[in-house]
Amino acid sequence: MSEALPEAGRCLCGGVRYALTAPPEAVFLCHCRSCQRAQGAAFNLSAPIPRDHFVLLAGAELLTRFESSPGKERVFCRRCGSPIYAERPATPQRVLRAAQLHDVGQLPVKAQLHSDEALPSLPLPPLPSA
Ligand SMILES: [Zn+2]
Ligand SMILES: [Zn+2]
Repeated sequence: MSEALPEAGRCLCGGVRYALTAPPEAVFLCHCRSCQRAQGAAFNLSAPIPRDHFVLLAGAELLTRFESSPGKERVFCRRCGSPIYAERPATPQRVLRAAQLHDVGQLPVKAQLHSDEALPSLPLPPLPSA
């Protein structure tokens, strides 16, 4: 029963809240320019999960989609602007914006993506490129 699942993450304003039926296996840093703009940050923390592991607890009316490239939609809270996840609806994967997870600090960071687009003066962590 989804009502019994504990809240795993939420947006900044708390309007969007969700549970997960299983935690993500890993977190990735994405340095691409689209993520930099979408997060307003040096890089994005992303955590791919199977879409059916995501259980929305509140805020369906706040979720807003932006198609940032063909077939790729970035979903955010329209009240506070927090990015929640991105997905390609044609695939079974949903990529959480992992900073919204309560236990993001416990998740292993496995690799970094698009490090060629990283801020030139930003020291990159010693992670493999994926
Ligand atoms: Zn919000
Ligand atoms: Zn990216």
